Amino acid sequence: MSTLRFQALKETLNRKPVKIEEPKRRSEIFGSNVFNERVMRQFLTKEAFTNVMEAIETGKKIDRNVADHISTGMKEWAISKGVTHYTHWFQPLTGATAEKHDSFFEPMDGGTAVEKFGGGALVQQEPDASSFPNGGIRNTFEARGYTAWDPTSPAFIWGTTLCIPTVFVAYTGEALDNKTPLLRALQAVDNAATDVAKYFDKNVKKVNATLGWEQEYFLIDSALTASRPDITLTGRTLLGHSPAKGQQLDDHYFGSIPSRAIAFMMDLEIECMKLGIPVKTRHNEVAPNQFELAPVFEEANLSVDHNSLIMDVMKKVGERHNFSVLMHEKPFAGINGSGKHNNWSLATDTGVNLLSPGSTPMKNLQFLTFFVNTIKAVYDNEELLRAAIASASNDHRLGANEAPPAIISVFIGSQLTKVLDELEKVTDGKLSPQEKTELKLNVVGKIPEILLDNTDRNRTSPFAFTGNKFEFRAVGSLANCAGAMTVLNSIVAKQLKEFKVEVDKLIKDKKMKKDDAVFNVLREYIKKSKKIRFEGDGYGEAWEKEAEKRGLSNNRTTPLALKAQVSKKTIALYKELGVMNETEIEARHEIELEEYAMRIQIEGRILGDIARNHIIPTSIRYQNILIKNVRGLKDIYADDFARHAKEQLEIIESISSHIASINSNVNAMIEARKIANKMEDAEERAFAYCDDVKPYFEEIRYHCDKLELLVDDEIWPLAKYRELLFTR
Ligand code: ADP
Ligand code: MG
Repeated sequence: MSTLRFQALKETLNRKPVKIEEPKRRSEIFGSNVFNERVMRQFLTKEAFTNVMEAIETGKKIDRNVADHISTGMKEWAISKGVTHYTHWFQPLTGATAEKHDSFFEPMDGGTAVEKFGGGALVQQEPDASSFPNGGIRNTFEARGYTAWDPTSPAFIWGTTLCIPTVFVAYTGEALDNKTPLLRALQAVDNAATDVAKYFDKNVKKVNATLGWEQEYFLIDSALTASRPDITLTGRTLLGHSPAKGQQLDDHYFGSIPSRAIAFMMDLEIECMKLGIPVKTRHNEVAPNQFELAPVFEEANLSVDHNSLIMDVMKKVGERHNFSVLMHEKPFAGINGSGKHNNWSLATDTGVNLLSPGSTPMKNLQFLTFFVNTIKAVYDNEELLRAAIASASNDHRLGANEAPPAIISVFIGSQLTKVLDELEKVTDGKLSPQEKTELKLNVVGKIPEILLDNTDRNRTSPFAFTGNKFEFRAVGSLANCAGAMTVLNSIVAKQLKEFKVEVDKLIKDKKMKKDDAVFNVLREYIKKSKKIRFEGDGYGEAWEKEAEKRGLSNNRTTPLALKAQVSKKTIALYKELGVMNETEIEARHEIELEEYAMRIQIEGRILGDIARNHIIPTSIRYQNILIKNVRGLKDIYADDFARHAKEQLEIIESISSHIASINSNVNAMIEARKIANKMEDAEERAFAYCDDVKPYFEEIRYHCDKLELLVDDEIWPLAKYRELLFTR
């Protein structure tokens, strides 16, 4: 009997939900482990407090002696909460988070010791982080990387460690992380959007991008995942036959949450409350054992940090509940994958959501301005947006039935489509007073203040307008949101800059009124960007053909999609906005290509290993049992045995043929890997892994899955889909 699998099943069936103690009110513990405004008032001098607030609000630099005051306050607060260590917490290009803990403890003369944490240690550190991917940046410049404090994201306590969010850059200033370009993109969109918002309200001084992500994940018992080397090492199943019951009945979606899962969620939410992550909703997703969690939206940089943090916290809380938290985009073939919708908008410091329709025609013209500019930005940069969500794991999801396709399009719903159709007809040049009144009353004025309930529901558009925000849905569940947010905010920044130039030009050269100029430019944008709008629900071949006619890209694989990251257009865009220089852009491209090849390489190795060392030996054992049985039948029935052994003989042959196919495909895959590994160029290697190695996965899997159906369940070594997905 296959001991590991059955032991795991037994363990799983005996589990009880972990008892979680709820605080009296969650609001009382909210932010209790965060060095937030309330705590800063208590632990900082007035001068230090003002400095930090200015740094957050206006980006003003904090000087060294003030930093000393801040670090002292931070240390006192942390020690009062039982903290012993501190760490600079950063997001290297692996997509995960990194930390290296240092103790506050400092020995002194005479056998005494103190707790120390100076301003220098707060502001800057030099982690020995030379093994993080850097795409050659540090080799080129022979410089080490250092981390620097990002005061816009507050320090927090996790366990007994004070975590200080930081950027990670080379000494020469090149970004080595995900946060640095994001902060630059957010600055760019702030500048551009503030300028445009001033057309409508002179008092606007700052515009923040907002992000509310929705994280999907699977909870699978950790004993069961431990019996599967593929899940343990790649986060997904590389083989496994579909269960008799999958998600066809749709009975999991929004159904009652299983009790072990609810205990996990309560525990997780309580941790999130302490960390100041405003999680609000939780529910079952479509697939069995799949769930979703979403916070209230926040300023984008903070929200990205919170998502990175929560992904760590989920894993750690999962351990307490004996769950493996799978955040891979496609852990199970034939079952819905997981995404991370990025709800995005722009908010002014005067409290206005620029993508929210308002109660007056003026507010709606402002709304339409940001709405149409965003659509135009997506149209002009659809390939770059596609590149932003490309990864080996997300390739499995984009284009599968339930997920957005690899073609980027924008869904806006029928109401707004009508409005844009009307605006397309606006007169070229100055508008007559009649036309303007008509527009304001009957077109712009007719956009209902609350679109939320009126927007058509389309669940699979890669980029959908949902009432007061855009929802970038093609982002992968495993991704760091910084990638998608850097691109989106950069392209919108660039677009808004262009818009401002064009409107100002019409006002100056054509002596147009501001409204007339805005209407004129928007009309042209609506016409130009029409091809990106798609209201359909189906994304099959018909849409692929249609998209091709429209000239939209359809980059189905990561190596193809990533090309847009280094196009002339992208380099010019990032240079103009100061988001990244050419070295940084190319380094990132290289890292992503390398990561892609590496992931496929690892999957290939593990699949080959499981197929050869688990599946083939098990199948041979079963075949031997059958052979023994056939021999026995022959002993009893002599020449007549064939009549009784017919089925057994068929299975014996079938097993032999599947084994032969597995073996030859594994051999061929290994050869393909050898060729790929010799390639020096990262792009060439990524393409080789994509086009020459990966296709063997399906072949090998097909035969393994057939064997799963033939071989005696008692000796099958790997937890089966039905066990992974339906054991609670
Ligand atoms: P759903 O998309 O599942 O219907 P909601 O529309 O309620 O759910 O919101 C989903 C997410 O969108 C939440 O995380 C929410 O905080 C976020 N969201 C709402 N408004 C904004 C906004 N103005 N900017 C960014 N995110 C937002
Ligand atoms: Mg959503």
